[in-house]
Amino acid sequence: MGRLTCKLDSSHTFHPKTNPPEVEGKCNHDSGELYVRKDDDPKVVERRLNEYNAALPVVDFYAKQGRLLTVNGVAGIPDISTVLAYQVGFVLAEVERLHGRDPALIMDKMVQFYKS
Ligand SMILES: [Zn+2]
Repeated sequence: MGRLTCKLDSSHTFHPKTNPPEVEGKCNHDSGELYVRKDDDPKVVERRLNEYNAALPVVDFYAKQGRLLTVNGVAGIPDISTVLAYQVGFVLAEVERLHGRDPALIMDKMVQFYKS
């Protein structure tokens, strides 16, 4: 928490204690103004942690039923998107199967949608 982000390039980040900029409030690379992103604000982090903890019983509920799908959020966006698309496809295929329809049809549609 407390990370400083450059307004000109968000990949330029600093920290007041562990990686301070050479000039306070200015980016070392391009002199862009540094600011604390809203999601780096300790109050925002605390609120999100509270919301996360409040949701844990719901996660446990579905996990115990074997109906919880998880995604590795540390992977890159293309990998995460692919995993999400397939998981949604599998859920939709299960819905099709429960309604007595051919689940392969929805998977074909998902693959076509994802390729477009
Ligand atoms: Zn910068």
